[in-house]
Amino acid sequence: MKNTKDKIDEAKRASGADSCVECGRCVAVCPMAEMYANFSIEMSPRGIIKKTLMGDPVVEDKNIWYCTECNAGTDTCPQGVSCRDLIRKLREAAVDENLLENAKTCKCCGRAFVAIPVEDFVFARLKDEPANVFGVLDICPPCRREIYLLRNA
Ligand code: SF4
Ligand code: SF4
Repeated sequence: MKNTKDKIDEAKRASGADSCVECGRCVAVCPMAEMYANFSIEMSPRGIIKKTLMGDPVVEDKNIWYCTECNAGTDTCPQGVSCRDLIRKLREAAVDENLLENAKTCKCCGRAFVAIPVEDFVFARLKDEPANVFGVLDICPPCRREIYLLRNA
């Protein structure tokens, strides 16, 4: 069984974070800068990478839950560092540690499937939609697929 340090090491390996040269290109294209009024270097891909490389307590850090997993920073990185893969792995480690306060769990299967800050951003833009739209967003995509297949069998 891997411990949290092993999982962080795996996150670094999988994302190539060790190769970061701190150029900031990922920050310049990251949509979080426009999404969140409280956007800061702490929340930015470069900030998360730096904290991970410095050995700061990043799995417990709320800032790992704002990322949309859009991959924009990854596409623009001259070193091929994947901010998306790093943050995904850090979130997986947080879920394994039961640090679920920033992760929404599926009403059907109970698995964590969406980051609450990202959902809050989406819900704020859907505020005028019918209430059933929000119900759909309480169920993870694999469970929605199962329900769809059962209904249409
Ligand atoms: S674009 Fe790549 S090298 Fe530049 S700060 Fe971001 S992760 Fe590091
Ligand atoms: S994957 Fe996350 S950290 Fe990277 S650019 Fe997209 S929102 Fe920003």
